Formats: sequence, C-alpha cells, structure tokens
Amino acid sequence: MQTFTETHREEPDKEDVSQRIRTFEEIYRFFTNRKVASQAARCVQCGDPFCTSIGCPLNNFIPQWLEAIAEKDLEKAFLLSNESSPFPEILGRICPHNHLCEGACTLDDGYGAISIGAIEASITDLGFAAGYVLPFPGITTDKKVAVVGSGPAGMSCAHFLLRAGIQVEMFERADVPGGLLAYGIHGFKLSKQIVERRFALLEQAGLRLHLHAEIGHDRIFDDLLADYDAVFLGLGATNGKRAGVANEDNEHVFLAMEFLTNVQRRIADRAWMERFGVLGKRVVVVGGGDTAMDCVRTAVREGAETVTCLYRRNDRNMPGSRKEYLNAVEEGVAFQFLSAPQRVVINDSGEVSGVDVVRTQLGEPDDSGRQRVEEVVGTEFCVPCDVVIMALGFDMEGFPGLRDAGVELGRWGEVLIDAASGRSSNPKVFAGGDCYRGADLAVTAAADGKRAALAIMNQLLG
Ligand SMILES: Cc1cc2nc3c(=O)[nH]c(=O)nc-3n(C[C@H](O)[C@H](O)[C@H](O)COP(=O)(O)OP(=O)(O)OC[C@H]3O[C@@H](n4cnc5c(N)ncnc54)[C@H](O)[C@@H]3O)c2cc1C
Ligand code: SF4
Repeated sequence: MQTFTETHREEPDKEDVSQRIRTFEEIYRFFTNRKVASQAARCVQCGDPFCTSIGCPLNNFIPQWLEAIAEKDLEKAFLLSNESSPFPEILGRICPHNHLCEGACTLDDGYGAISIGAIEASITDLGFAAGYVLPFPGITTDKKVAVVGSGPAGMSCAHFLLRAGIQVEMFERADVPGGLLAYGIHGFKLSKQIVERRFALLEQAGLRLHLHAEIGHDRIFDDLLADYDAVFLGLGATNGKRAGVANEDNEHVFLAMEFLTNVQRRIADRAWMERFGVLGKRVVVVGGGDTAMDCVRTAVREGAETVTCLYRRNDRNMPGSRKEYLNAVEEGVAFQFLSAPQRVVINDSGEVSGVDVVRTQLGEPDDSGRQRVEEVVGTEFCVPCDVVIMALGFDMEGFPGLRDAGVELGRWGEVLIDAASGRSSNPKVFAGGDCYRGADLAVTAAADGKRAALAIMNQLLG
C-alpha cells in the first residue's frame, strides 16, 4: 500500500473518440486484475477515511476493499464491496466521483485521488467473471413487502430485504425494470446487460417482478396496503421541466426523457417514434447536469450536424460528473456557459430556427449557498438550431390514492419522510430516491432504499 508517489492515478482506457461516437457501447475498458491491484495499492489507509464517512452516501468500506484487492484477494474485495452496496459495478460507473468519494480522498489534494469508482466497478466485474456468487438466504420469513418502482431506490430496498429473507414483490409500470438506469442513462455510460444481470440475481434471490403494473392505475394502492406488511415507494421524479420561455411548445422542442427514451427504445428494437430524430440537425441542449450530458452525447451518436449545450452557470458549477462533461467535449459538443435561453425562435414555416440567449453572471450566494444567476442586460444573441432539448430537471408525478392513504406530500409533490428511517406519515409506507429528494443521483437513491430496508426489517422482524 501507499505507493502513491511511484504509481500515478489512472483512469480506465477509453475507446477512441472516432469509434465510440458510432455506437452506444460503453466507452471505458475497466481494469484488469493486475491494474486494479496496482491502482488500489496507492491508498494510504487513512485513520479516518473521508472517502467513506463523508464522500460516499452508502458509506462503502472503501479502504477495506482497496486493501483486499491490493493484496490480490479478489473474492474478499468482491464480498466486501457488495456488502454495503446493492450494485457496486453500476455505481462505480455512474457516480459523479469527483463530487463524492474521490473528491473526499486525501490524495485528491496534489497526488490524484484513488480512482475509487473505476476500481469498484472493476472488482465486481472481475468477481462475476471469476464465478463468485452473492450470498442470499432465500425467503426465510413470512413477511411480505411491496416495492413500487424498479429504479435504484427500489432495487436497493429489494436487495437488502431479500438478504434478510423477506419476500419482495416489485411493481413497475414500464416494460423493462431499472427505472432511469434502463431508459434514462445511456449504454455508453452503463451497459444495459449490467442492469439486466442485477435483476436476474434479484429474481434468483426470490424477487417477484411485475412489469406493466402501474400502482394507482393497474392496481390500487389500498390493495397493497392490505396485502403487504410494508410498502416502499421508489417512484422517481420523471416529469420533465421546461424553461418557461416563448415557443417551447413547438414540436421540435423535446423534453430530455422523450428524446433519450425514444433512442433507447429504437436500439432495443421496441416501438419508437421518428419525430424525435436529430440526424443532420443542429441541436441545442439546455441544461448542465448528467441528463444534459447524456442528451448531448446521444445527439452526437444520432448524427446531429452540430450539438451545443447552453448552461446558465460555468463549468465549475456543473452539478454532474466532471468526467462525463470532459467526455462530451472530446466527442465534439460545443458549450456555451453563462448563457440562459430567452425564447425559442420560430421561422415563417413554423419550424425552430434558433434560441435567443442572454449572457449571465454569478452573483451573491443564495440560501442554499449556490451563487445566484443574474442576466447581463444588452448581451442577447441567437444560437441557430433546428431542435431544442430541455434537460432541466424533473418533478415528482405521484399517483391517485397516495394522499388518501395518509401519505403526506410536500409542495412539489415529493413524499415527505423521516430522513433517518425513510418512513412516511403512514407508518406502513416508506419512500426514497428522487420521489423524496427531487431529481438527484443513483447513489443517493440506493442509500435511501437501503436505509428504508433496514427500518422495515426492524419494524417487521424486531
Ligand atoms: C438522462 C439521465 C442521466 C443520469 N445520469 C446519472 C449519472 O450519471 N449518475 C447518477 O448518479 N445519476 C444519474 N441520473 C439520475 C439517476 O438516474 C436518478 O437519480 C435515479 O435513477 C433515481 O432513482 P429512483 O429509483 O428514485 O427513480 P427512477 O430511476 O426514476 O425509478 C422510478 C421507477 O418508478 C416507476 N414508477 C413510477 N410511478 C410508478 C407507479 N405508480 N407504479 C409503478 N411504477 C412506477 C418508474 O417507471 C421508474 O421505473 C441521471 C438521470 C437521467 C434522467
Ligand atoms: S458508491 Fe459512488 S460514492 Fe460510493 S464509493 Fe462507489 S463510486 Fe464512490
């Protein structure tokens, strides 16, 4: 261990840009056994590891699995990594590490943080390839929990309940499980086979998965309350926001999820719509988070003539993963920072011809500590384009019967819960993930699902 002075931080190799923009395949080639050990051996084994205590929402046993893999004990590293996390190979790929574990790593200041995310993904990939299995006990109790929604929050809750021998039935309205891991996040960041493998494992462990099953529509909520010992809501927040500017109802102004889902449906040979095509078009994406980065990189792969991202703050204030922004730059996306849309411009034929934009500057911090965005008068200009994609965050949708069942909702329709247990105002109902936080991260959804599972276990098993 502590080889950080002689071994530099490395990221996994990436597919060459000219090749990778032709496909939706994952761009990273994760570490081999030898490379993962040498990168893990850089760890200094801090007495108080901030990567775990402050950086990682799941408080993963990072120094412990780094030590195990540095000592070439893959099985120990695999089991340790899968002990606290419900899907380390997924989060190792998609977490914005620079804001989380790697940002809290002692070596980040000067030497280059341990490449925790890549090591984490590699350990579980290599462990599965070596044939290691995860210990699930089978259904050993007479308790039954309904999980509504199959995104990271629901998956995580189901994983930990199944590990305690509790029967779990999952209800998902979509035709495939995974929530935004299935139709939101694209294959170039996270291969769909990796999500499918996790569901296969959960089903082997006893999960009963019901697809095309929308609670509040196909099945009423009161039935779940009557038939199960507890209910976990991992409903997500998928109602796309618009910018509130003129002409944004034009048919060539898309919401991010309409665009992303449509492309993913076509790739998976499911029903899709021609009207969201961007081949040969000039595309403007509004927003600066992970969703916006997925949109710009998808538009590049879909053959857009140009792709421009408009973001009203600067690159240092982008909420998503730094590495995905840099990947987008490599793939030819143009960024207009400190730029806010004012209106979508429509030509005489009723088609989109541009977006009028005003320059912004960052002012004093608001109550949340983020600097306010101020428009700079007299700096207006037009970005010519044929299609605009709004990637501005999401609101919660909810479903009929939730409030009637005594589940309190907040101002934005979010489920109100006790943060320590995930319990709602109805003691039988728990919630977590984006339907509680608003659009956030897969890892925070996973942490919420885990916390709720532990509280449900306490409530049901004592
Ligand atoms: C394009 C995009 C890219 C992203 N990239 C990243 C990234 O790189 N890293 C990262 O950490 N996060 C990323 N995120 C955010 C991350 O995907 C979400 O924070 C996370 O998926 C939230 O998990 P969840 O389980 O709360 O909700 P979701 O993943 O939204 O899952 C909710 C599920 O509930 C189902 N559902 C809703 N209502 C009902 C009902 N009434 N009955 C049955 N089922 C229902 C929905 O169909 C959905 O499948 C991205 C998001 C998007 C949109
Ligand atoms: S889950 Fe995310 S934050 Fe936690 S160790 Fe893995 S990559 Fe880092």
